[in-house]
Amino acid sequence: MKPAQRVSQIQPSATFAISAKAKALRQQGKHVISFGVGEPDFRTPHHVNQMAVQAIRRGQTRYTVVGGIDELKDAVLLEIETGYGLEFSRENVLVSCGGKHALFNLFLALLDPGDEVIIPSPYWVSYPDMVRLAGATPVFVPCSESTGFKMEPAGLQRAISPKTRMLIINSPSNPTGAHYRRHELEALAEVLRAHDGIALVSDDIYYRILFDGEEWVNFAMLGEDLRERTFIVNGVSKTYAMTGWRIGYLVGDAEVVKAANKIQGQSTSNPCSMAQWAAVAALRGDQGCVTHMVSVFEERRHYVLQRLNDIPGVTCAVPAGAFYVFPNVSAFYGSRVGGRTIDGSAGLADYLLETVHLAVVPGNAFGEDRCIRLSYALSMQDLEEGFDRLASALKALQ
Ligand code: PLP
Repeated sequence: MKPAQRVSQIQPSATFAISAKAKALRQQGKHVISFGVGEPDFRTPHHVNQMAVQAIRRGQTRYTVVGGIDELKDAVLLEIETGYGLEFSRENVLVSCGGKHALFNLFLALLDPGDEVIIPSPYWVSYPDMVRLAGATPVFVPCSESTGFKMEPAGLQRAISPKTRMLIINSPSNPTGAHYRRHELEALAEVLRAHDGIALVSDDIYYRILFDGEEWVNFAMLGEDLRERTFIVNGVSKTYAMTGWRIGYLVGDAEVVKAANKIQGQSTSNPCSMAQWAAVAALRGDQGCVTHMVSVFEERRHYVLQRLNDIPGVTCAVPAGAFYVFPNVSAFYGSRVGGRTIDGSAGLADYLLETVHLAVVPGNAFGEDRCIRLSYALSMQDLEEGFDRLASALKALQ
């Protein structure tokens, strides 16, 4: 049977596709190293697991209210107060099944067919397709390596049209690790202040994973006028190594949050009850696990950049956060090896997977074909082995 028209407008998630290819090779007994993973390689903290076990024992295993239990909403409010210095109320919070779900609800709640959504490129793979599923049109603003892949005011200005309804900022970014500093956001805000109908979506899922003492800042923190139209999306997946628990949240204008809650009520209902309790423990509990994880990622970033800089032909912007690097490998495009020509990031990713069993995500999935995305959420031993393989495979192309 033929699926609905809207499905033909979207692609399967590229990161999941790479993981599937890597898994197939592993099943054939190959030792695959995956730089494709989009999740921390740490265990969910013990006290978080314990809270979920307790919730099961206490019988907290039934439907909860659609938008999340009050205890979790309060924990989110406290997080936003301490992490952002912003005060909201429960009516401004919706808890969903992951940050991805929070974004999807938000897009459905805010976007109408014909609306345009500005997405700085490179972008997280799911934004354009989620926007399309909501019937709106993504408008990309290419951001170059020379600006650290960050959008500049002129690019934003050029992209704005009477149809613009939303701008999405993801900082620190997946795939580049780029983080907008206060003065950079202020410069963008100056443009946005002349267009007060544009909703600002701040995907802050990596906000705790920042290096070198970088200051955390987003649009909502720049002033009341911007706070009113900023929608904060965040969650516990990356910060607490809780990707499987599926808890994320949306914080923003009460009317839109109510609309998103209505959509959630007619689709998934509440997020998993015990996962909500686990998220309360994560947000309220000891934050030592986060500090530890971030310091490990920071050390790895140092190593990864060193290894990349040692490979002739590769350039790489220094990421300020998250756990990805997005090196430019376009110097190798056009090379011929084993009867094939490497014609772009997808071809290079296939070549790396097939020849040295190294999984990477092609940059074309993020809107930048000159690059590939490497995650360093894996052990030092695997990183060392992976970079040996990358260096030798790229050398063979020279
Ligand atoms: N936003 C970005 C930029 C991400 O990279 C991810 C996950 O990869 C998400 C949102 C969604 O995370 P989750 O749905 O696990 O909370």
